[in-house]
Amino acid sequence: MNLPAPRLDRFARHIVLPEIGGAGQVALAGAHIALIGCGGIGSPALQYLAAAGVGTLTLIDDDVVDVTNLQRQTIFTPADIGRAKAEVAAVWVTRFDPAIEVRAIGSRIDKGNAPSLLASATSVLDGCDNFATRLAVSDGCVAMGLPLTTAAVGRFQGQVANFAGHLPDQPCYRCFVGDAFDAEDCDSCAADGMLGAVAGMVGSLAAMQALRVALAGRATLGDPQWGRLQLLDALAPSLRTLSIAKDPACTGCGSARR
Ligand SMILES: [Zn+2]
Repeated sequence: MNLPAPRLDRFARHIVLPEIGGAGQVALAGAHIALIGCGGIGSPALQYLAAAGVGTLTLIDDDVVDVTNLQRQTIFTPADIGRAKAEVAAVWVTRFDPAIEVRAIGSRIDKGNAPSLLASATSVLDGCDNFATRLAVSDGCVAMGLPLTTAAVGRFQGQVANFAGHLPDQPCYRCFVGDAFDAEDCDSCAADGMLGAVAGMVGSLAAMQALRVALAGRATLGDPQWGRLQLLDALAPSLRTLSIAKDPACTGCGSARR
């Protein structure tokens, strides 16, 4: 596969990077990333995935734009209030780059519909706002053999990691958090508050890690760093790395898999 001349121009600053190059740009054009959540993390993440030339994006979000979102969800404007986030996000992508194939899904992903919603994706970036969905997405990715970039943010902290829990020697997101949060919607940025720029930092970092996944085996940037959790303290600011071990008894990817 070769990229047409206008695409070579558009991505010239990528192609000149030895870590990406022409082969990496072709890999990005062939990637299909399913993005869960078009909010504080998803907005900047999808902007950078689209800007990077990811060929296909599936945008999944069951929420509508609210005035309180505008402080951090960078793709929305006051004219979008009351409209479905996934639909508005898809319009943003098409305006930004009509060559990207984009699909908007206005429902909440769960264990039941994950197989159909993620069916043709090559990887998943989860930037949703609750543990129950993050765990359902993780379990779905393990079952379907899909790599997962998962990202979360609260107040001034963020977490981003790539997981490949379908591989026998790699942990999944559930190995990290366990089973305690399945039924709880315990993230609450409405109560705790969040600085918009922190969501931007975490969304950009998530996009970077998702691009590593898309480039794995195709360009030298593509070490996905499976199971290494990046912990961002935006106040310091600092970034710490934790290595997550595979839990042999994990109900998502281990012997107790459900
Ligand atoms: Zn696991």
